[in-house]
Amino acid sequence: MIPNDDTIVARATPNGVAAIGIIRLSGVLSLQYIRSCFTFSKAISPNKVYIGYFTDPETGETIDHVCVTYFQNPKSYTGEDSVEVHCHSSSYVIKAILNSFVFLGARLATSGEFSKRAYINGKLSLTQSESVIDLIHSETKLQHQVSLNRVQGKLYTHIQSIRSQLMSLLEQLEGSIDFPDEVPPINRKDAYHIIHSISNELNHILSLQDLGKSISDGVHCLLIGKPNVGKSSIFNALLGENRSIVTETPGTTRDYITERIDYNNVHFHMYDTAGLRDSDDVIEFLGMQKIQSLIKQATIIVWVCDQSTPLTSDDFIVLDHIKHLPNYAIVFNKSDLSSNHVMTIPNAAPIFQLSCSALDSHSISCLKHLIYEHTVSSFQDHDLEFLCNIRQHACLKTLVCLISSLLDRLNVTYHDDMLAIDLRNCINSCSELTGDTITEEVLDGIFSRFCVGK
Ligand code: GDP
Repeated sequence: MIPNDDTIVARATPNGVAAIGIIRLSGVLSLQYIRSCFTFSKAISPNKVYIGYFTDPETGETIDHVCVTYFQNPKSYTGEDSVEVHCHSSSYVIKAILNSFVFLGARLATSGEFSKRAYINGKLSLTQSESVIDLIHSETKLQHQVSLNRVQGKLYTHIQSIRSQLMSLLEQLEGSIDFPDEVPPINRKDAYHIIHSISNELNHILSLQDLGKSISDGVHCLLIGKPNVGKSSIFNALLGENRSIVTETPGTTRDYITERIDYNNVHFHMYDTAGLRDSDDVIEFLGMQKIQSLIKQATIIVWVCDQSTPLTSDDFIVLDHIKHLPNYAIVFNKSDLSSNHVMTIPNAAPIFQLSCSALDSHSISCLKHLIYEHTVSSFQDHDLEFLCNIRQHACLKTLVCLISSLLDRLNVTYHDDMLAIDLRNCINSCSELTGDTITEEVLDGIFSRFCVGK
């Protein structure tokens, strides 16, 4: 990739009135530009903060009292000469400073251009650059931890070590093809063991990606059940407020209501849905269609039954919608009422079942904790190192498939030349995941997700 020869400028802090606003310059002329508008007379050394007046280079008028720091290449975020101007964050001041730099010849940066330069100049790997955006957007401690791990390059280092193991195999294989007298053929049994352990490792990383989704998007928890079993009451109790209408009349919620709660640093999107049942009512029917699509996307489905009465065919209609899924739980509600019918339900394999009452805060806390336990908390802290974003996840899936077919082929008599091609494909796939080989188009797509100034 060709290094940039122009100097870019952007505000690094958000719009709006604030105590301090930061403007960033990056490129070969950064120092020259700041010298043209800064009243500080002595030499500007790197990594020091200088205080002085910023003046308009065209009119000589004072714009603001500012602090300036110069970062000399390669020791800057972008790897280029960079300058940060800390000014008062009025929109007038920010605009005037940006205009001054543009007047001198700087170009306004596009989204993510600073990070793109950091990547081009080898300051950040692609996985690290991508994680910078997640770090900026992280709202919970867990999201922050995941993106920080990636910024620190833990996933990158891991995939790189897999790549170098594959590379050593390929080197020996190609050596034995080209120089059969000097390089011995690879030991297929040893190669099988290496690829097998890589395959296990990658499959483990792949299996963790649902956790990543739960951390970044939040857990989607769907309450379903026939009408009047207490779904809205449980929904309200989980939220701690009366968000959903609770009545004794069945069928009041026509499609679904969703609200977010935060529990142990994870966002939980709770969905209170219309009762699933056979109905001639067109609106209710449409509502039920929506629920069916929510069922497919849910992280966890909580099927609510009323334990104060025996189950009816309407309950089993609900079970029919979910019994093939691995992610549903059963809640027997209304435990406070006298005649309890908690039962083992034939053909049901829930991840947990709980007898509870929407009227009892203790059982609602238990329910919240069980939902958390079965979606997020079973994972270890170090698992967080391996979480990918969407692009990396897609690359990881391809890599897992390639490694798996390579493993199959090592089992059979497969020509060394063909094996070398497969190995090379796996190596390329690793490089794609880490971003070491990536097209300009994909790069632009990645960096356009950033804000301007990052
Ligand atoms: P939904 O149609 O499944 O959403 O059910 P609702 O939450 O609207 O509740 C239906 C009725 O059951 C209302 O009268 C609630 O007050 C009542 N109810 C809900 N949960 C409980 C519970 O745990 N115990 C008792 N005694 N009544 C409940």
